[in-house]
Amino acid sequence: MKTLLKDREFVNDPKDADLIMINTCAVRLETEERMKKRISELRKYGKKLVVAGCLSGAEPGTVMSVAPEASLIGPQAIEKVRDIVDGNIKTALNGERASITPHMMEGKIGIIPIADGCAGNCNFCITKLARRKLRSYPLRSIIESAKFALSKGAVELELTGQDTAAYGLDYGASIRLPEVVRQVADLEGDFMIRIGMMTPEQASSIIDELIDVLKLKNVYKFIHLPVQSGDDEVLKLMNRKYTIDQYKGIVGELRAKVPFLNVTTDIIVGHPGETEEAFENTLSLMKDMRFERIHLAIYSMRSNTRSASMPQIPDKVKKQRMNMAYKLYEDISLSIHKEYEGKLTSLLLTENGRQGSVIGRTVNYIPVVVRGDHELGVRVSAKIDEASFFDLKGHLI
Ligand code: SF4
Repeated sequence: MKTLLKDREFVNDPKDADLIMINTCAVRLETEERMKKRISELRKYGKKLVVAGCLSGAEPGTVMSVAPEASLIGPQAIEKVRDIVDGNIKTALNGERASITPHMMEGKIGIIPIADGCAGNCNFCITKLARRKLRSYPLRSIIESAKFALSKGAVELELTGQDTAAYGLDYGASIRLPEVVRQVADLEGDFMIRIGMMTPEQASSIIDELIDVLKLKNVYKFIHLPVQSGDDEVLKLMNRKYTIDQYKGIVGELRAKVPFLNVTTDIIVGHPGETEEAFENTLSLMKDMRFERIHLAIYSMRSNTRSASMPQIPDKVKKQRMNMAYKLYEDISLSIHKEYEGKLTSLLLTENGRQGSVIGRTVNYIPVVVRGDHELGVRVSAKIDEASFFDLKGHLI
């Protein structure tokens, strides 16, 4: 939206604004509550208010009940943001094809959405209600965004989407993710590409070409492949499109063919139907797969999703299971990171850290905290001094 409104002036203090826009998230119930609270606070300024993002897309009625006078724009209608801001229309929840890829930078990192929406229909997911269709951005527009980010000094390009491996299915699959990665990787400059989250079933449909691009020199040996549960019955209840054996097969093939590959996953603890045995299966999968990083989340019931209408697991049980899963995750991740202690590694310094430190990434995207004030965007050699479950600490040599 900021890209489309680039000729307008942005201010950070609502007091200075003619119009206030809030971009919302609805992924969890707690988040929704925070969003509603913030919308109520912003109403008090008495200015024109625009509520954008997934809460507007998935639950427009909820937004209207908090701020009836607000204009609403959903995440798949952002092409209409000028009309919304100018007051030509009051509500835009769905759009047609995505046309321009946003230009977004966070420090030295260029964030390049390649598609929004997905080809799945998971029963727990509210994102699907906000982003109903898969909308791949045109390749030329992605390349233009990548060039823009590089011209602004980006050293890392993150290709993002709800399911990057679904890229192009809405265009008849003539261009898929590996071709996008290859064309971005061919651009001039010294930078690394991080390929974003993808579903196992779509990854498996392009696995040979995906392996080829993961081997490219300027692509991080990193893949984010959410499994969500280690139990086939729960996967069925979630409406995920793979079995645990298939998931293991995909990861096994990727790890066998891409040296140093770091596989990150997402797991939901306490989805309806998760028996003790099913939860044990998730713990076993974690031990088996030894994920370096897991985005663990307690299942959060979201309105209008199918999972919300299933018999629920009590909160106490969900929390106990979460504690067990988190402890196991910490132990496994720490043991993986311990293997790096005392080793030399090359890093690309990409972000400022806390208290006078910078953060670099190994070739497989593990964060390394380096003390001191170092220039970002450069490649350095470092020795790893210490490991925690979350990151590594090292010094430059
Ligand atoms: S693939 Fe991801 S975004 Fe799509 S419905 Fe499933 S969880 Fe939601």
